[in-house]
Amino acid sequence: MTNRSKQRLTVLGATGSIGLNTLDVVARHPDRFEVHALTANSRVAELVELCRRHRPRYVVIADADAGAGAAARLRADLQVAGVRSEVLAGEAALAEVAAHDEVDVVMAAIVGAAGLKPTLAAVRAGKRVLLANKEALVMAGQLFMAEVRRARATLLPIDSEHNAIFQSLPANFDGDLDARGVRRILLTASGGPFRNTPLQELAQVTPQQACAHPNWVMGRKISVDSASMMNKGLEVIEAHWLFNAPAERIEVVVHPQSVIHSLVEYADGSVLAQLGNPDMRTPIAHALAYPERIEAGVAPLDLFQIGQLDFTPPDHRRFPCLGLAYEALRAGGSAPTLLNAANEVAVAAFLDGRLPFTGIAATIAGVLERIPAMPLADLDAALQADAAARRLAGEIVALVA
Ligand code: NAD
Ligand code: MG
Repeated sequence: MTNRSKQRLTVLGATGSIGLNTLDVVARHPDRFEVHALTANSRVAELVELCRRHRPRYVVIADADAGAGAAARLRADLQVAGVRSEVLAGEAALAEVAAHDEVDVVMAAIVGAAGLKPTLAAVRAGKRVLLANKEALVMAGQLFMAEVRRARATLLPIDSEHNAIFQSLPANFDGDLDARGVRRILLTASGGPFRNTPLQELAQVTPQQACAHPNWVMGRKISVDSASMMNKGLEVIEAHWLFNAPAERIEVVVHPQSVIHSLVEYADGSVLAQLGNPDMRTPIAHALAYPERIEAGVAPLDLFQIGQLDFTPPDHRRFPCLGLAYEALRAGGSAPTLLNAANEVAVAAFLDGRLPFTGIAATIAGVLERIPAMPLADLDAALQADAAARRLAGEIVALVA
């Protein structure tokens, strides 16, 4: 941190669900935060509106193809709006605004593998990195965490479960579960929209049904992941890397109310949890202000209205993606990278109407069966595994279609 009074923030994925929630919290604290850069894949109109409101120094359009035209449109629209933000385009510009000297904090909220390079750029520059983009950690966890340590970056989890675990672990937890008396991590899951759908109907569910999450409003990719419980699988792998916990010490607990955001069990029998309304502004505000606490605009938790909290074990027959993720974590090396890439291809195909919902798990299983897991020596190896899995997943999807 510099001695400037305000923290300068880059939001990667500013037009998304997490990006907008971040800017909502930031706007409540103009004395604390200043927006350095906002990025989006392609949505010009939304970006103009956000620039008008937050006056960033830089604004980045990531999509290189749409980039040139979109950047020109953005420049023109900003000029009309009287906003002086400098417009940049392309993937390299994402990394540039994430690692910029003047930036203190980076919210990593791009969805999917596309977030890996810019998030790593922030890590390598030693920033305070607020990690929503779980796919980055799943793809290249070992390399990612090694870079965090090397660059002395501060990594704070935004995923509500991991933020809850972070809050429930001992202060200054250094990754040694035994030394700190931690026995297990209990990761809660809502069960998503298909928790009680008859199994034989799952092959016919639509993208619209999959995206109608009972408790959370989120981007479409993570909504489908929640419906298949691959989101929880990715989160098990995320927890493994963030908290240095082996697979057998991470248990998934289905808790449909999404009030307990996760728990930590200690050797003396104590179980600590973080509770709150399902509103991402809580973990976002926690990480933005850490170790202080700030107003987030979140309604107080009304326990009397909730009345009751339920817990059940996950149904692995209904949610095969969860088991696939545990298998990939246990296999190690490139297996989680393959899992993540195959899932991204399958989810996109499902959202496009080219693959039935049940085809998502089948595609991922096919990729994990046919591409052997290899050790990941460096980032290139991770990117190659990602590309190979995408190719094969695409072939498998094409066979179904
Ligand atoms: P979203 O789809 O709403 O937004 C994604 C953002 O990423 C947009 O700003 C988009 O412009 C940008 N983007 C998409 N593709 C890109 C590309 N190829 N290059 C550069 N930018 C690109 O997604 P979201 O729900 O906000 O989720 C973002 C991340 O946070 C995901 O990794 C998700 O798993 C994680 N997360 C989200 C929630 C939630 O409540 N939404 C909760 C926990 C974790
Ligand atoms: Mg989560």
